[in-house]
Amino acid sequence: GPATESDAPARAWLAAHAARLGHFIDGRHAAPVQGQWFETREPASGALLASVAQGSADDVDAAVQAARRAQPHWLALGGHGRARHLYALARMLQKHSRLYAVLEALDNGKPLRETRDLDIPLAARHFLYHAGWAQLQDSEFRDYEPQGVVGQIIPWNFPLLMLAWKIAPALAMGNCVVLKPAEFTPLTALLFAELAARAGLPPGVLNVVAGDGATGAALVEHAGVDKIAFTGSTEVGRAIRSRTAGSGKALTLELGGKSPFIVFENADLDAAVEGVVDAIWFNQGEVCCAGSRLLVQEGVADDFIRRLKRRMESLRLGDPLDKTIDMGAIVDPSQLARIAGLVEAGRAEGAQIWQAPGVPAGGCFYPPTLVTGVSTASVLMREEIFGPVLAAMSFRNKDEAVELANNTRYGLAASVWTENISLALEVAPALAAGVVWINATNLFDAAAGFGGYRESGYGREGGREGLYEYLKLRAWSRLRVRAPQ
Ligand code: NAD
Repeated sequence: GPATESDAPARAWLAAHAARLGHFIDGRHAAPVQGQWFETREPASGALLASVAQGSADDVDAAVQAARRAQPHWLALGGHGRARHLYALARMLQKHSRLYAVLEALDNGKPLRETRDLDIPLAARHFLYHAGWAQLQDSEFRDYEPQGVVGQIIPWNFPLLMLAWKIAPALAMGNCVVLKPAEFTPLTALLFAELAARAGLPPGVLNVVAGDGATGAALVEHAGVDKIAFTGSTEVGRAIRSRTAGSGKALTLELGGKSPFIVFENADLDAAVEGVVDAIWFNQGEVCCAGSRLLVQEGVADDFIRRLKRRMESLRLGDPLDKTIDMGAIVDPSQLARIAGLVEAGRAEGAQIWQAPGVPAGGCFYPPTLVTGVSTASVLMREEIFGPVLAAMSFRNKDEAVELANNTRYGLAASVWTENISLALEVAPALAAGVVWINATNLFDAAAGFGGYRESGYGREGGREGLYEYLKLRAWSRLRVRAPQ
């Protein structure tokens, strides 16, 4: 087929809404009560994609009320009834996968190849997996009840996949949802809510209120919300934690990271180079668990860096819909400026910056970047950049590798590369991280609980443990007091 995917289906959907998308509340699109709208643009070209409703406290209130009305009926459907809906949502994603993949690539700037092969299939898989759990709810979770109405706030890096991670377990366990997508990428969530309603999801079960941080804050403050689930920056997570403290609301936080990628001298270096590409240049490095700190054993460090630079030169940046590119655009000019600013701060500290050539003109593009000459105190080794920037250091031995890897306030993920399996199994448990990959990176599965240590947050998403985040334990007494004879 052609090298560039057609954007016609996505344009047709936008045109059907006159490029003006309201919230999705109680089963239908809803114009913002205060009449305010914001723009969402294509980062690769800067072109306007659509105007989107800017959610106020009134919109949040309407959505929470719709969710409260729907929740008893949703619960009464039972696990098997809800499973039928979750299977229908998975099929709906699969049936319209091309439309979702293109719309996501346009709104976020990431390559179509990734939305088509990862974001959309993984999202569908998440609904299938949780449909299975919904069916088991009555037998496996008898002593639990749902939280009730859940407010969910998600970031822009994996808009549809983060939606799936949030809503699939919540809905499976009998909760209703008010979801606030990120302001840079609201479109696939609104498409999803619309097509979910068309696939028979009852009104009020899933409500989407678009908007920015103020909209998210209104959701956090709403008294009708029983639980907040947040994925985003550590800074905002901390603010939400203090806002919900003492409110009686349950809370889970999935926050930032600065994950180590450790290469021992006995690693398969070619495989490890490809691993680095996946760890830090997949999704333009806008990945919470990106392997952004490269630690290489000193005996192979020079060789490894040489191989890596050669590989960086072959990475192609460009139009997200071009199926031959490796990296797309950074989500927004503000994020581009943040990345560039951090790299300049690193340069001012004396770090050596190496960037691959071939950055397209115009649009929010930032080249794959390798940083050397840093220490553990350097800004580029400490701060989450959330962009395609890799900072590298060398280590002498296993103990120093572990010490450097754990020298961070985060603890989301880690990746270990060695052909010596005993070494791998010794190092992995010593790393303070919610997930450790061995000779692999950025692997996700609906069945594996994902989440952070330390300032990377708390709570898990996926797996059996992810379900408990949407349940409350109720201790039942099954003893009966016998009536006096
Ligand atoms: P962000 O924290 O600025 O925004 C995330 C979401 O929170 C957005 O929807 C935003 O509108 C909303 N928000 C902003 N201020 C708010 C407030 N005061 N109250 C309530 N909601 C508010 O983060 P971002 O820049 O969109 O995303 C990047 C961050 O997300 C990175 O730090 C990254 O590591 C993190 N992230 C973590 C995971 C994970 O699973 N741990 C996954 C993806 C992204």
